[in-house]
Amino acid sequence: MKNVYLFGECMVELSRTSDGLLKQSYAGDVYNTAVYLKRAFNDFNVNFFTAVGEDPLSDEMVAAFEKENVNTDMVQRVRGKAPGLYMISVDNSGERSFSYWRNDSAARQIMQFVSAENVGYLCMGDLFFFSGISLAVITPNERDIFWQLLRKLKDSGVRIAFDPNYRARMWADKTEAKIQFERAFRMSDLVMPGIEELEQLYGFTEFSKIQDFCSAFGIEELVVKNGPESVCCIRDGELSEIDITPVETVVDTTSAGDSFNGVYLGARMSGIGVAESVQLAAAAAGEVIQHRGAIIPSQAFADKMGPLVEQHAVEK
Ligand code: AMP
Repeated sequence: MKNVYLFGECMVELSRTSDGLLKQSYAGDVYNTAVYLKRAFNDFNVNFFTAVGEDPLSDEMVAAFEKENVNTDMVQRVRGKAPGLYMISVDNSGERSFSYWRNDSAARQIMQFVSAENVGYLCMGDLFFFSGISLAVITPNERDIFWQLLRKLKDSGVRIAFDPNYRARMWADKTEAKIQFERAFRMSDLVMPGIEELEQLYGFTEFSKIQDFCSAFGIEELVVKNGPESVCCIRDGELSEIDITPVETVVDTTSAGDSFNGVYLGARMSGIGVAESVQLAAAAAGEVIQHRGAIIPSQAFADKMGPLVEQHAVEK
């Protein structure tokens, strides 16, 4: 059984329902990735490494993880802290923006839990996934703990995957984010950015520029997402563009990239090729954006993805 560890923060999510009421659920980029990975590839052991509080809301959050069959053995409890919270606003074209209350969340304490025992568990994984938001959540004076952890994982043969999700307000400035992201690029086997982030941080709009940039970091596999446009993959220096089918009625693009990541990682770890993995991941993201919120109803996801994943498993 494949063993995956995903490191990040889950928050309380507030989103509007179609009748204008507020709906409460739980989400966060890395958690969303964990959920969709597990939903699509049920035989994987998908572990979420995070910290929550000891309050009732944290209990409900952990119950939500369990309901999604995400392994909670590495969910740490911090006394006196509570989960962060965010609210989604969606404009008429389905594009979303967020308001956050997360500066003092329990998840920010996570580096206290990088004990020898927990490092031992993480080293037993096949894959470790984290994002630019996971990096931003770590308090600056604890960043070295994280980089030492990543070095140990790499030395133990764990594959490292990184999505440089960039939220400007979580960083002092672009330079600070770029320094951390570039450490991550150097240590990752698989990097999965949205083109928007690379444009915001580096001004790249062309794949060839991205290819040059990434070759300096020795990234084995780079997958660049670009909304409804084709996905660009660079593997062992070879560039390929994979067309996807645009969705006509976009309801809410929250979690498009996260669901893509979860399914792509699961597919690649199952031995499915790059182009087929992109197709599966794009099908998942294409379904997710036709529903409100980050985590869509499990039945809708299963109806779409169940037959596709099965078909690829047979073809492989
Ligand atoms: P993004 O983070 O916006 O680049 O989107 C991530 C992934 O979600 C893309 O690579 C697509 O697979 C999917 N996606 C996003 N927007 C659309 C859309 N309008 N139509 C179809 N797929 C989309």
